[in-house]
Amino acid sequence: MTAQEAWEAALGELQLQVNKANFNSWLKPTRGLSYTDNTFLIGVPNPFIAEWLEKRWHSLIKKTLISVLGSDLEIKFQVGATGPQLPQPPAPAAAPRPDAARPASNAANVHPSLIPKYTFSNFVVSSSNCLAHAAALDVAQNPARNYNPLFIYAGSGLGKTHLLQAIGHTVWAAGYKVLCSNGEQFTNEFVNSLRSHTLEDFRMKYRTPDVLLMDDIQFFCGKEQMQENFFYAFNDLYNASRQIVLCSDRPPKSLPFLEDRLISRFEWGIMVGILPPDQKGRFSILKSKAANLSLPFPDDALLALARAPFHNIRELEGSLNKVSAVARLSNQPPTTELVDSVIREMFPPERQTGTPAAEKVVDHVARHYNVTAQSILNKKGGRASSLIRYVALYLLREQSGLSLSAIGAFLGYKDHTSVAYGYKKIASSLDKDKDLKDAIEKISRDLRDPVLNQQPE
Ligand code: ADP
Ligand code: MG
Repeated sequence: MTAQEAWEAALGELQLQVNKANFNSWLKPTRGLSYTDNTFLIGVPNPFIAEWLEKRWHSLIKKTLISVLGSDLEIKFQVGATGPQLPQPPAPAAAPRPDAARPASNAANVHPSLIPKYTFSNFVVSSSNCLAHAAALDVAQNPARNYNPLFIYAGSGLGKTHLLQAIGHTVWAAGYKVLCSNGEQFTNEFVNSLRSHTLEDFRMKYRTPDVLLMDDIQFFCGKEQMQENFFYAFNDLYNASRQIVLCSDRPPKSLPFLEDRLISRFEWGIMVGILPPDQKGRFSILKSKAANLSLPFPDDALLALARAPFHNIRELEGSLNKVSAVARLSNQPPTTELVDSVIREMFPPERQTGTPAAEKVVDHVARHYNVTAQSILNKKGGRASSLIRYVALYLLREQSGLSLSAIGAFLGYKDHTSVAYGYKKIASSLDKDKDLKDAIEKISRDLRDPVLNQQPE
């Protein structure tokens, strides 16, 4: 059996164990490269897929390969070595070509319906958006080649439109014909075309671009006729090997019409989510945005702002602008004290303890350790171990931005010293205790996972 044959057998098994969307996004574009000295080498198209597989599915893949090959082995991923045997999408009719009639544009010549500042160079990459960024960049540089369609999903204000438009700027500059629209605009244009008997024009408009960028497709939910219309436009473009990029505020599984009608079309594409940024990501974004302000912001003021529980980059930007405005109006520099007072105003104490964010943290910790949230909150029905309560305490401090005294009260601690001790204990154990570090990372990831944290509709 060659490495590729063994890998195909393993993929067959893995397909039964992970969901279809994940399989198509992460496992399908891989290859078995070699099997020597008990090491199985798997070729993956880019570092992000390598990292994702390494972090999430290492043991599953290893176990599956061991069962296929019948002997113990280690697995390794090699980037950029997927080779010519990669499964290819159904033969495209014709690869899209840049529009020969129009010279490639330059910076001064911006696509009329794209927002100039939504470019890749203004997009700050962090752990919560690196996959979406990598996929978007790949699509922008190789339209209709590796990831078609590209589906980006994330909560509001996390950069979907920014990335979508960044693709638009890049492909437009390379001479491709770009159409940037969204669910609502598509719907309005369709209705207007019915009224004015220009349906054919509407159809042509959505069937001729090289790259269709379609924002906010959740707007089609519950609108049967629009879904039908969009499905036809999608099909025509896809069959003509035109690039399609879709954005939605919810994951694909919450868009039933996509599941039923278009999901088979996603076989060759990729679906990527963007998570709310963690504190480090918030800091990088603030640092980059602050560089464009006339007022210099010291790092400690930015750090104080990054600690606040903003789960939406639009709000985060708003808070920076607010601090900057207050500083300018009151003629004082943007200090941490000023930041604290603005944050206190935006997050008054009654919004702090007991907010869903704090409860959500406790729920995730409880789920991870298989105990009740009540036991972490030191309420009736017994108390969770101090380690579990310290983990909750630590994550509340890191993730919700609450003060230690607010956290102490929330978790039912009687004195402040044990709260400070618990926080320090976890923070100082992280480097030494890999299990603890893994647990904290896993819970942090879960906390930011839009699928796990979906609000019931
Ligand atoms: P969404 O479409 O997901 O609701 P947007 O793309 O409109 O969000 O982003 C909201 C605001 O946050 C915009 O001003 C955008 O430029 C900014 N933003 C989002 N993500 C980033 C990022 N990674 N780097 C820099 N700015 C960002
Ligand atoms: Mg948007």
